[in-house]
Parts: sequence; C-alpha cells; structure tokens
Amino acid sequence: MVPDDIVLAMAELSADAVFGKIPENRYLYYIEEALKAGDAQAKKYGGMSVDQLCSELDVSLVVEDKSERLGTVNLRGQTMFEGGRAVIYVYKESIASLAENSSWDGEPCLNIEDALDTHVYHELFHVLEEKNGYVSDSLEPVRLWKFFSHEHLSHITRCSEIAAHRFAKGMKDLPWLPNFYDYIYLYNTGALKEDDFSSFFSRMRALVDKGKGGTP
Ligand SMILES: [Zn+2]
Repeated sequence: MVPDDIVLAMAELSADAVFGKIPENRYLYYIEEALKAGDAQAKKYGGMSVDQLCSELDVSLVVEDKSERLGTVNLRGQTMFEGGRAVIYVYKESIASLAENSSWDGEPCLNIEDALDTHVYHELFHVLEEKNGYVSDSLEPVRLWKFFSHEHLSHITRCSEIAAHRFAKGMKDLPWLPNFYDYIYLYNTGALKEDDFSSFFSRMRALVDKGKGGTP
C-alpha cells in the first residue's frame, strides 16, 4: 500500500497546530497550492545537484556524523542563519538509520547518499522560501476567532512542509513524498504496528474524501 501525494500531504496538513480551524472544503486548496509551489521550484532548479544548488544559493552544507536530538526526536536536518548566511546541517547517523529501514512495497532501500540529498533539498527549499517568501504566508490564513469586529488569523505553517516534500521528491525523482519514509521507518522498526499504520492512512484518506465533499 502506497498512499498518494494528496494523502501524504494530508498527513502533514492534519498535524498543523490549527488544522481544526480549516474548513473541510478548504483542505484541498491548501494541499494543492502547496504541492504546486514545490513543483514550481523543482521545475526551476531541476537537474541541479545538491552542491550546485548550495553554491547557487550561497548556502554552506555541514554533514555531521553524529545525531542531534531535539527533546525525544532525532533531528536529521536543520537550517540555521548564521551572520546572514544559511547553513544547512544534516545528521548522517539518523539519516543512515532512516535509509537502512526505507524499503517498501518492492522498492529497495534508499542509499545513504540519496537519503542525505533528500534532506538537503528539503532544507534548501526553506532557504528559497527565506529569500522569496514562505509558501504558508502566500496562502490564505484561517480565522481562529472573531469577536465583534476583531478577528485573529493564522497561516497554515505545514503548507511549507508539504511544498518542501514535493520539491525534494521532484529533485530526487522519488517514488512518493519523502514524509512517507518517516512512516516506513516507524513501521520497519516496529514502532508503528500494521493496524495503526493502515488505520492512520485510512483516516487521512477519509479526510481527503471529506475535503472533496465525498462520503468518508
Ligand atoms: Zn521542513
């Protein structure tokens, strides 16, 4: 079973802090616009290697052997802005572990280099956003509350993640949005049981159907 990009994007969207405030009939707007934004940049930079794109965007790349932890989560990559210059850190140990556990549905494991590239492309997308504006800011905000003439609006930050996944998928010609590797990893390492895996993706598919106005 391989979820399509819309379902994988829904997995990302539904994790947004204000997902509950998005009207169901707007789910597809956020997903499709975010995917389009990722595609547009992949089309523009397609064919450029990680190193070429790093130098084009004046980004330093630091590959650390060890993992970095953020609370209980093993970080695989992050971007810092140091003295006005973007520095992308990727953590080889946790990326290697992801790669070793990435086979799925007849597709072989990613090799470590491809897994590293995927993470760097993802981060490079955020560097592009820093230069050109964030995808989440370019999409309509949702209203969190309204009281008389006061209202509080919020952007959907996960739209930037969806776009970055699609960009990395396009640049590396991956078989699915790369956030699927996170679920494959949890499944292949036994952290996510088969039933939980299938029921999670059934729930995501049902949300997509609701967004389309179909019956869940
Ligand atoms: Zn990201």
